[in-house]
Amino acid sequence: MSMNKKYIIKAVMLLLLTLAVPKLYAQEDTPEVKKTVIAGKQYSQEVSAIAGKSVVKKALQTIVDLQPQTLADHILLTEIPAPPYKETVRAKKFAEMLKAAGADSVWTDTAGNVIAKVKGRKGKKTVALEGHMDTVFPEGTDVKIAHKGDTLYAPGISDDTRALAVVLTVLKAMKKNEIKTDADLLFIGAVGEEGQGNLRGVRNLFSSSGPGKIDSYIAIDGTSVDRVVHRGLGSHRYRITFKGLGGHSSGAFGLANPHNALARAIHYWVLDADKFTREKGVRVTYNVGVIGGGTSVNSIPFESWMEVDMRSESQERLVGIDKMLQDAVQKALAEENQMKRLGPNLTVDVKLIGERPSGMEDPSIPFVQRAIATASFLQASPSLGVGSTNSNIPISKGIPAVTIGSGGKSGGAHALGEWWLDDKRAYVATQRAMLLLLTEAGMSK
Ligand SMILES: [Zn+2]
Repeated sequence: MSMNKKYIIKAVMLLLLTLAVPKLYAQEDTPEVKKTVIAGKQYSQEVSAIAGKSVVKKALQTIVDLQPQTLADHILLTEIPAPPYKETVRAKKFAEMLKAAGADSVWTDTAGNVIAKVKGRKGKKTVALEGHMDTVFPEGTDVKIAHKGDTLYAPGISDDTRALAVVLTVLKAMKKNEIKTDADLLFIGAVGEEGQGNLRGVRNLFSSSGPGKIDSYIAIDGTSVDRVVHRGLGSHRYRITFKGLGGHSSGAFGLANPHNALARAIHYWVLDADKFTREKGVRVTYNVGVIGGGTSVNSIPFESWMEVDMRSESQERLVGIDKMLQDAVQKALAEENQMKRLGPNLTVDVKLIGERPSGMEDPSIPFVQRAIATASFLQASPSLGVGSTNSNIPISKGIPAVTIGSGGKSGGAHALGEWWLDDKRAYVATQRAMLLLLTEAGMSK
């Protein structure tokens, strides 16, 4: 085979790989084996009893009847852009819709979360049902829906706008049938779930400026009605910038070069991180995602930066790989400064741009059992999973939380080609969300 041919084959294979990998893993934080689980008998019985109440039966049917309205809400909200930190327009509309759906009170908190409250009979406990309003797409992204057959294409349509439509429909179905629960209920549209948002919405909900104590938290994210996320995949994200004087490549030759320092930092980190991630133990991953800096080929850059991401379900492992990064950065800085022939030392700025705590719930706690039992009751095949979602915050604080799906089929999350399809069973996820909410909130009458 000629060298040329070899290169072409290699290039084609690389291209195929880069095309295939995001499709395989875009939706999942961790590739995991799906294993169907069943709930303890008492929880299955509890769910059957709630679902058997005549008002609940009617509400389950209302959800079926409301399908066209759910879709209309879904489309309307998808077509209101909600870039990171710019959720206000969508939030305003969502608040109006919650009000119209019959919530007792609706308000927007200091972070921008939209919160609707429905008072319970006893009000000793509060259960929240939430979808996130933000998307990953920047301002100016075309969010108009394209219909191709039955499939709807639009950025943000599945992640997570479908969840907002589900939250609305659950509220409508409960109000229409005058369902009352023991606990107070919160129906929430959260801001800042995605990347740069760094879970700022849900952090606010569980802070002193939140709506008060929340006892159980249901986040709706992703579409699968089978998946019960009860573990939070933690992450640390940094933007690291080496800074120097910069100058002419020939005239100022000998100045410390920020790019060289960055390259050293990546090199040392990856050497250690590679060993660490191959060791036995809880899975931990690392990635240099973006690098930048520099002005022209004949200029010594004045800065060089990278953005990196590390993830693990284990806080200890996360801290371990983070320390390797910090050490590599300092070592790189010292070496580059030692090698310079003139000018000032380089400096480095290490900025934490994202931190999601990890955590794990015992699958035997009642809330997780109820999440499993409600899915089984509706003929789904529940499996336990890990995710990096709004539930990370309550889970890390020891507050019962699960992330469940919004229904239908979807793909291309975080890509312009994101799509959603009603597989004719999408309503089941809405029924499930309502059943879980009712079971957790209690219906003693
Ligand atoms: Zn999401």
